[in-house]
Amino acid sequence: MICPGCGSTTINKNGHTYYGKQNNKCKECNRQFVSPSEDEKNLNNDQKK
Ligand SMILES: [Zn+2]
Repeated sequence: MICPGCGSTTINKNGHTYYGKQNNKCKECNRQFVSPSEDEKNLNNDQKK
């Protein structure tokens, strides 16, 4: 995972958003961002049910 702000790979997980997406926080610039691939993962999980 790469920070969209500074390009650092030093990322901390920072809980989840209200919609259940993984929230992340960059250790370098403290920018918070949501993992862009979470929607695809959720679709795959639905198929397993
Ligand atoms: Zn950053």
